[in-house]
Amino acid sequence: MANVLQRVFRNMRQSNLRRQSLSVGISRRDFTRYISTSRLVSASKHYPRLSPQEVSQVLRQNETVIKISGGEEVNWSSDEGSTSSYSVVAVDSNQLASNSPIEDKLSAARCLHTTGYLFGVFDGHGGPECSQVVAKRLFDYIAASLVPRAELRRLVSEWESGIRVPLTQVFNDPSHFVSGLQEIYEASLLNYCHTLLTTVTQDFSMEEALIGAFKQLDEDISREVQENQDSEMLEPLLRVALSGSVACVAHIDGPHLHIANTGDCGAVMGVQLQDVIGGWRALRLTNDHSWENSAEVNRVLSEHPPSEGDTVIKDQRLLGLLMPFRAFGDFRFKWDRDVQVDIIEQYVGPGNIIRNCLTPPYLTCVPEVTYHRLRPFDRFMIMGSDGLWESMSAVDCITLVGEYMSGRQTLQPVRFPRQAVTLGEVSQLLDQRQRGLSLKPVDTNAATHLIRYALGGSDTGLDHGRLSHSLTLRPEVRRYFRDDISIHVVFFDANFLRVCSVEI
Ligand code: MG
Repeated sequence: MANVLQRVFRNMRQSNLRRQSLSVGISRRDFTRYISTSRLVSASKHYPRLSPQEVSQVLRQNETVIKISGGEEVNWSSDEGSTSSYSVVAVDSNQLASNSPIEDKLSAARCLHTTGYLFGVFDGHGGPECSQVVAKRLFDYIAASLVPRAELRRLVSEWESGIRVPLTQVFNDPSHFVSGLQEIYEASLLNYCHTLLTTVTQDFSMEEALIGAFKQLDEDISREVQENQDSEMLEPLLRVALSGSVACVAHIDGPHLHIANTGDCGAVMGVQLQDVIGGWRALRLTNDHSWENSAEVNRVLSEHPPSEGDTVIKDQRLLGLLMPFRAFGDFRFKWDRDVQVDIIEQYVGPGNIIRNCLTPPYLTCVPEVTYHRLRPFDRFMIMGSDGLWESMSAVDCITLVGEYMSGRQTLQPVRFPRQAVTLGEVSQLLDQRQRGLSLKPVDTNAATHLIRYALGGSDTGLDHGRLSHSLTLRPEVRRYFRDDISIHVVFFDANFLRVCSVEI
């Protein structure tokens, strides 16, 4: 192990050191332990030590919560008499930056003309532009794809008469595009609505809507560059097209959960076991699109001639450069050669076309869509960028949030799962409650709770020194230790889903 780690350490480059540690099969935790004793850390030795209060202040500065059920406080322990009228009761979210500026983006919205909610985690690379723009635009494309055609015709008619009816209500993101970009983006969205009305004869299924929206937005990002070469907006449009972003999007409508995933963000369901103690099981809802997924490797290789077999995937990356095998943007991997010459050579400079880019596209944004019907024992779903999944396993994440819920539950009166319980079961329940008291979380936000353990977790619990160290690393070494981390924790209402399981 030491030799392998030394080799990684010798070969590391600032921009991809974290990836290299993973590419030789070393866990992020082992890697972090190794470099914590290395010269790299001695270079950043004189870091300030934060107090517990200061640590919490840093961890909580980006946390948000969305209460879906009319803004009422959520009663976490309630298995009976819930007042919720929807499958989702709340969403805890948080982000911690490693890159400056952060390249991840979270988004959440309600579809205003259908009954679904949308939650997304976007992880950018090569700059923050693509992830920021895709996160702000994609939900409108999805919402438009889902609106029944007759209703969409009415909305388009009003839009063209000067009344822009919003398609989504976005939560916790008051930012806007600059006016020149906003006009270009609005024109593209209107154009997509026209396409839906003129070329699609039937309403989409959910899978068709998600795939269609992903593909159309990516095509628009490419077209907007090519059609605005004489515009002052070319530079920001190029930044979006040449950077990239993976995306994991959940659409939840009552008990129906669809996940559209492209790249290496991911979603995992926390399933409560049906015993008195109420343990937890992690159910993966997404597959990573990277060299670790053999089906993805075969898909990519099958799309190019055998003569490119040694270059299409090299060092576990597309064309030796890109870790995710699916992503928005990154048009250096997608444009035909003549477009690359026209745009990249002209505006970015000669020598910027990828050498082995012979039969593009090598990269697609088309998502893998999965469906899961929510059950009463599906209690929460964690959606995260790879910064979370590289720090902790899915099982550890689910256990942590499950225990976090137990910690909250101990603040509520004792409730037995049914009327007739044995003395042994009462004893088990009281033991669980006692453990829950000792686990009482310091954070009220589950996403913050996860980030706290991702950074400061150890075999014996939370290590404050490690947490403080991780949060005070100098910017020039921070990326060696951790990636941007972005998390949604979506909590479900067991009562609503119990009724749904019979009625819908
Ligand atoms: Mg990342």
